[in-house]
Amino acid sequence: MTSPFAVSQGEQRFVDAARDLAPQFAAAADEHDREATLPIANLTALHKAGLDMAAMPVDRGGAGLSYQALGEILRIVGKACPSTACVWMMHLGAAQALVTYGPPFYADELRDGKRFANALSEPTGGNLFLMPLQRAEPVAGGYELDGAKRFVSGCEIADHFLVNALLDDGPGFFGVPSDDSVEMVPIWDSMGLRGTRSQLLNFRNTLLRQENRCLITDPLAPNIIALGLPWLSIGVAEAALDALTEHARKRVVPTTGKPVGDLQWVQFDAADSHVKLLAARTLAERSLWLADHNAPGALEAAVEAKLYANQVAKNIAEFGLRVGGGSGYLRSSPIQRHFRDAQAGALMAFSVEVCRDMLGKRLMGSQTDTTQ
Ligand SMILES: Cc1cc2nc3c(=O)[nH]c(=O)nc-3n(C[C@H](O)[C@H](O)[C@H](O)COP(=O)(O)OP(=O)(O)OC[C@H]3O[C@@H](n4cnc5c(N)ncnc54)[C@H](O)[C@@H]3O)c2cc1C
Repeated sequence: MTSPFAVSQGEQRFVDAARDLAPQFAAAADEHDREATLPIANLTALHKAGLDMAAMPVDRGGAGLSYQALGEILRIVGKACPSTACVWMMHLGAAQALVTYGPPFYADELRDGKRFANALSEPTGGNLFLMPLQRAEPVAGGYELDGAKRFVSGCEIADHFLVNALLDDGPGFFGVPSDDSVEMVPIWDSMGLRGTRSQLLNFRNTLLRQENRCLITDPLAPNIIALGLPWLSIGVAEAALDALTEHARKRVVPTTGKPVGDLQWVQFDAADSHVKLLAARTLAERSLWLADHNAPGALEAAVEAKLYANQVAKNIAEFGLRVGGGSGYLRSSPIQRHFRDAQAGALMAFSVEVCRDMLGKRLMGSQTDTTQ
């Protein structure tokens, strides 16, 4: 009997395509981290494998890939190169909104290999990326935005941005082309996920065209980013566990003459890590199952899955540092990169603290809304 969360036979070819690409992504991951370069070749390869359009709805020319299959693909890509997974997930998330709720040409753009990015987070808004504070003023043809968006992964190669702004009747979402009114400010010299190059963008009286408005009726409906974020952390956690296991099997402790993996504390922590990872995957798979079956509670389940997966990734990556000792602390070891990469998931909205806040309030029946 297969798992209720197994990817269907019909969608296995998309997962296989990602699995075929993973070794080359993994081989370049250290270099993208060291040089802080965008993994453009990887993103192009994902597009050529048909995985961009696969994730789009059937009525817009996509394959209507299930979230279950997409989660598995993000896990595989995230384990090989988390920067690639992050930029690609943001690209797909922005494209999903514009292709589904925007004008039809966005599907053609995606099919042609054009790149998308999410410009939602504001310098003063932090985690509250769905509640923009920056107001766009009505002008002929739409609205004008004079403001900034922060941490826009993959912005330097984006052709289209998904941008939100406060309008008279609340938040509005628009597709905005990368033109001269959008100025990139290079802030991204980060600790981890260095290949995402998530820079700051200044929008200088940028026209948010009425015809490119994205009529998202419910920004909290299941979507690629909310459901995909736990998988970035799961990918990093798996890579960290593999790297520490390899080290523990090979490195001999000078005082005992036996491998590090023979130490009891390492075996105990390895067992805990394994089970935590299984639990994180199961929580994330459950959220995807709910979304694929249009069942209520998918978004709440995604928040629970993200909260746990982010913490598990940090936890296992820290175990890796302990197992690696001085060798794992060196730049030449993958252990230190996994540790740095593992921190990012917990910071990305909704952060671990905000997830705990939301969940804790629900459990306690608290009426205070600190996310506003
Ligand atoms: C690697 C990476 C890639 C990203 N890519 C993109 C992208 O492509 N597009 C995009 O739009 N954004 C992106 N972001 C932005 C991200 O999703 C968050 O919106 C942003 O990081 C939040 O801002 P901040 O980190 O300044 O945190 P702040 O929101 O300023 O939070 C500061 C601290 O306060 C805590 N906090 C905040 N609010 C609450 C609350 N209500 N209750 C309890 N604690 C709270 C936070 O947990 C954190 O510890 C990216 C971020 C990272 C790290």
